[in-house]
Amino acid sequence: MKIPRVLIVEDEPAIAELIAVNLRHNGFTPIWAEDGASAQRELDAVLPDVILLDWMLPGQSGLALARKWRGDTRCKAVPILMLTARGDEPDKIAGLDAGADDYITKPFSTQELLARIRAVLRRRAPEQSADSVSIAGLLLDTATHRVSWQGQPLKVGPTEFKLLNYLMKHAERVHSRAQLLDKVWGDHVFIEERTVDVHVKRLREALGGAGLMVETVRGAGYRLTAQPLPVKSDLASQS
Ligand code: CA
Repeated sequence: MKIPRVLIVEDEPAIAELIAVNLRHNGFTPIWAEDGASAQRELDAVLPDVILLDWMLPGQSGLALARKWRGDTRCKAVPILMLTARGDEPDKIAGLDAGADDYITKPFSTQELLARIRAVLRRRAPEQSADSVSIAGLLLDTATHRVSWQGQPLKVGPTEFKLLNYLMKHAERVHSRAQLLDKVWGDHVFIEERTVDVHVKRLREALGGAGLMVETVRGAGYRLTAQPLPVKSDLASQS
């Protein structure tokens, strides 16, 4: 799994350092920028997964930066967690209005900060899937809800679409039926694992020539692969 990059925009080195150390210890890659200008340089170079944005900064304020990045096509999908001083209620509301995803009040505990970062990453995840994904001629676009194979549009039902979206975004990995139920159907729904088989079958039919890319891995589950095995072994593994 990718290590999440966290851009810390904070002018106080002691606070930035404390945050950076804790993030590093918890599996994140921290990048420190002391003001808006250097943060912009970092953003132009590599987009982070989360921005921790201090409210009070020299030069452009955190609020102005949040507003600017929200309006920027490239940056707008990056979650922003604002750092505010204790009790600044109007600040928090203004920060959320400006496009921050959440705020955290200084001083904060490491555990709280990590929990908030993980929460914004989770919440943002569905929106980040609003792109297209393409594997070996198979193209899925979540924005337009379209699927095509070698340029030809395919008709894929809503559940099959969700299933395909998940398989394509986690291609080459084997997913058990239980994992697929959890990730595609959601863990709040009780459905038999056989349901997955039914939808995989429908998905293969809908995909036509690309159906072979959805492989059955005997005793393990399913995977979407760019290099499917020949037809014969695929059929054999289904029996
Ligand atoms: Ca500050």
